Amino acid sequence: MSTVNTLRGPIDASQIGATLMHEHIMARNPELEQNIEHPEYDEAAIFERARKSLTSLHVDKGIDTFVDLTVLGLGRDIPTVLRLTEGVPLNVVVATGYYTAKDLPTYFHTHAPDGLVGKTLGGPDVLETMFVEDITTGIPRTDGVKAGIIKIVTDEHGITSDLDRVYRAAARAQAETGVPISTHTNVHHANGRDQQKWFKANGVDLERTVIGHSGDSTDLDYLRELMDNGSFIGMDRFGMEFVLDDESRVDTLAKLLEQGYAEKITISHDAGFFSINTPPSWRAEHTPNWHHHRISDYVLPELRKRGVTEQQIAQMMVVNPVQVLTGDAEATKAAAAKVLSP
Ligand SMILES: [Zn+2]
Repeated sequence: MSTVNTLRGPIDASQIGATLMHEHIMARNPELEQNIEHPEYDEAAIFERARKSLTSLHVDKGIDTFVDLTVLGLGRDIPTVLRLTEGVPLNVVVATGYYTAKDLPTYFHTHAPDGLVGKTLGGPDVLETMFVEDITTGIPRTDGVKAGIIKIVTDEHGITSDLDRVYRAAARAQAETGVPISTHTNVHHANGRDQQKWFKANGVDLERTVIGHSGDSTDLDYLRELMDNGSFIGMDRFGMEFVLDDESRVDTLAKLLEQGYAEKITISHDAGFFSINTPPSWRAEHTPNWHHHRISDYVLPELRKRGVTEQQIAQMMVVNPVQVLTGDAEATKAAAAKVLSP
């Protein structure tokens, strides 16, 4: 696979460029918002702010590709993202998958292969069908926009029976389509380990996985273990200082780079322009550095001060995204030849 699905069609690996691998445009909850009017959901204002920021990311900061990991459970709404990003000069990769720490909605229970309705229908798990169709034929209510990555979660409850189902659907969809799997973990449970164990036991190639939110951890042994096992790690929450301050995040990353791990790390913010869960006013007051420019404006200069080279930065921001998104060794070599030459 040397092309990647984006909002506006497949692009060649050579067009991926500098990439933020774990971001959001908006995290919403349509049911809640139909019943609890959120005073801060002002679409025109949010669109304007988002367009300005995304455009500046490309024009001023040289970011070429933005991976939006907003899936079901986080209010994925691709028609709205399409409208919002109209004319924005960035590639946006969208995701399929399911975000839940514990349970799936009742629909997925009644439609499980052995569920009340599902057993009358036959065929594969509806989750698997959804993931595969999102990647191969297109996301509903769009003109064939295809997902380029699968996102799944483990949090405080571990891999519950519903999550095991999501994982199975993700593993099958990956086997069928070749797109990568990117995860959410909870630092207090170091559950990248559980994810790798599950992946290994179920035939998922760890090289095709990104263990997300690894940057919330400062435990070098844990982080090296995840990478030595073959996964990429996402140092993907720069600016989210209510979980861990950025200085510690940068220090941890610099140490791993010094130890030769540049080829296994991706960087990002996990930021967004509107979230019903942590609305803009709360973020502005309590976590002002959590925005999509934080890496360009603060993290990269800090890394350089610690002796990190331009090659290491290009490896994380350009070469690794090509490897993760395409799984194509030749395309990765070509990207490396282009950006790593001294
Ligand atoms: Zn996220």
